[in-house]
Amino acid sequence: MHRPLLDRELTYIKGIGPHRSKLLKEELSLVTVRDLLLEYPMRYEDRTSFQRISDIRGSADVVQLRGYFTSFGETGSGRKKRLVGRFTDQSGTIELVWFRSIKWLKENLNIHQPYVIYGRVNKFGRRLSMAHPEIENFSKKQTSQTFIPVYRSTEKLGASGLDSKGRRKIVKYILSQLSERDTPEHLPHYLISKLHFPTYYHALQHIHFPTNNQELHDAERRLKFEELFLMQLTIVKHYIRHKTMVSGYVFPEIGDYFNNFYREALPFDLTGAQKKVLKEIRKDLKSGQQMNRLLQGDVGSGKTIVALMTMLIAIDNGFQTCLMAPTEILAQQHFESIKDLVKDIKVRVGILTGSVKGKARKELLKLVRLGEIPILVGTHALIEEGVTFNHLGLAIIDEQHRFGVAQRAKLWEKGRSHPPHILVMTATPIPRTLHMTLYGDIDISIIDELPPGRKPIRTQHKTEYNRPDVYKFVKKEIARGHQVYIVYPLIEESETLDLENLNSGYERLLVDFPPPDYQISVVHGRMNQEQKDFEMQRFVEGKTHIMVATTVIEVGVNVPNASVMIIENAERFGLSQLHQLRGRVGRGADQSFCILMTSFKITHEARERLNTIVSTNDGFVIAEADLKIRGPGNMSGTEQSGVPMLKFANLIKDNALLKTAREIAMRILEKDPDLRSSHHQALRQYLEKYVDEVQDWSQIS
Ligand code: ADP
Ligand code: MG
Repeated sequence: MHRPLLDRELTYIKGIGPHRSKLLKEELSLVTVRDLLLEYPMRYEDRTSFQRISDIRGSADVVQLRGYFTSFGETGSGRKKRLVGRFTDQSGTIELVWFRSIKWLKENLNIHQPYVIYGRVNKFGRRLSMAHPEIENFSKKQTSQTFIPVYRSTEKLGASGLDSKGRRKIVKYILSQLSERDTPEHLPHYLISKLHFPTYYHALQHIHFPTNNQELHDAERRLKFEELFLMQLTIVKHYIRHKTMVSGYVFPEIGDYFNNFYREALPFDLTGAQKKVLKEIRKDLKSGQQMNRLLQGDVGSGKTIVALMTMLIAIDNGFQTCLMAPTEILAQQHFESIKDLVKDIKVRVGILTGSVKGKARKELLKLVRLGEIPILVGTHALIEEGVTFNHLGLAIIDEQHRFGVAQRAKLWEKGRSHPPHILVMTATPIPRTLHMTLYGDIDISIIDELPPGRKPIRTQHKTEYNRPDVYKFVKKEIARGHQVYIVYPLIEESETLDLENLNSGYERLLVDFPPPDYQISVVHGRMNQEQKDFEMQRFVEGKTHIMVATTVIEVGVNVPNASVMIIENAERFGLSQLHQLRGRVGRGADQSFCILMTSFKITHEARERLNTIVSTNDGFVIAEADLKIRGPGNMSGTEQSGVPMLKFANLIKDNALLKTAREIAMRILEKDPDLRSSHHQALRQYLEKYVDEVQDWSQIS
């Protein structure tokens, strides 16, 4: 039996053959006709309208003109020989220049006959010229005014006749062979008619060779929708499966630990947002399904207390809990503050990190195994082989993006009859747009309110010129008993350079802030953990006034007394990073400041970025802006994720379509979770055959 045309391998297509098909596979991973047709044009050359020569603005404009030659002339000799034709459309004149095929052109081009030409303009002063334009007789052109697709190519492909033009020819041939029967519809018919989409057949024809704007627009709309819709279907399917299949421990009780803590130990009133989130968590813990929740809240929004109170619910129900932090310092800080918070309600808290060794470690692990440590705080040491819980019911992960996917998965295995409930805390807001596509199968809770009395951090952009004033200001803050961070960028490729930056910055500081009046801590990536912890600790304890650091302090450290964050070479940081760094201050009741230092000259784009940070403290606004600038591939949290990247649709620009796609996917799967109804047969088969499974997100975070 003959394979359907779309599934046929490219090597069997007329005009391709084994050599070219091998190249297409190597260079662009295209194997079948379907692959080739689904590589849509990068852009189109608009041949539907003509420019006037007098309207041409500048060099490098690509234009299509209609007119005739007034003269031809040959100049130069040998290799410098060229043919120059003066071409006019009444509004002006342009010189068309050829260095090759001169003889043929001279024989075939005529004066005073109408032509259409297309190409890139050069402008020297007021003289316009164009080298090797495409040229066609006007009469013929009249019937084929159209958009010309431009395809991706590579040098190797180009050398084998598969440049954009070569590919265009092949695609055109394939599309001429294609019939409606070859392209059965996989979207449900009711959707096509409801959303006024073209059929699959027409969409494919028109995405490659649209004859007008409307056709192109409709084809794009359908194909983008389709991409988003198929992706959403797989994500929502996982979400539903997780909801209905992964059962979890049930914590029906709120008992003494929680209640006593709430009544007697809690040092402040919870914010409305914290209460709301606790309610959401509480509902999960009673549901019988495993909780898999992401707790998002800007730095300082008070996630720790929510984590602790969630742990107390688990403990009230007779379970153990653990809290995993990305660094030793953070683990230590969580340990100290939790121990302090629960001291009156008598809950035993343990800490397990790499530096807990020998007998102490053995003893601790034994207590954990026996179930006598209800709260175990630690680093990734928590997920090592030798760590066995008696009845782990809840695992909390702080600052999620520092942990790899595999590490997180290991937590699952620490449960007994069920996986523990999982709560992931992050201060890196995931923009809603991204959340819907990537994390659509994780529940999310947002703390969108800071505890009362916080003063928003004041952020300013300063240049070298202002440095004396900045230092004067720093001295004033130190005199008022506050501490100061000064952060230098760390870029891996130039570690030496950065260290130099930091060192020379440090030396300069020593001049302006001389000991013994001023004490300075230094932390950078070349130090070992012990050295770092030691220096950090001196700052935490208030023994030093200034902390000079590369970005190692980015995550989570809490020094409420620090009121100033100075970021050097701020133009070298991304938006989210700047926001994270800024979050190190503003943790106490006093007014805090963030100063972004740059040289005088920075790019326009960098200035925009800094303006964003200056103008808002809202992490979500910043995250959306970051997503727009960098695209989803670089968002933290996604780098190890194997995110199914979109080829055609764009999360930002096509956000409205994305929403529609998601809503429809949810509605369909609610009624027909396995896509068994007759309307959805084709859709199911298409998904099974052609759409990669998304990773099971619910299992890895
Ligand atoms: P993050 O969300 O960045 O982890 P933390 O949990 O460290 O924030 O909280 C930051 C600070 O705010 C801590 O000192 C904490 O005690 C305090 N805090 C948390 N919730 C409240 C509240 N409802 N009212 C007052 N202070 C609070
Ligand atoms: Mg925190």
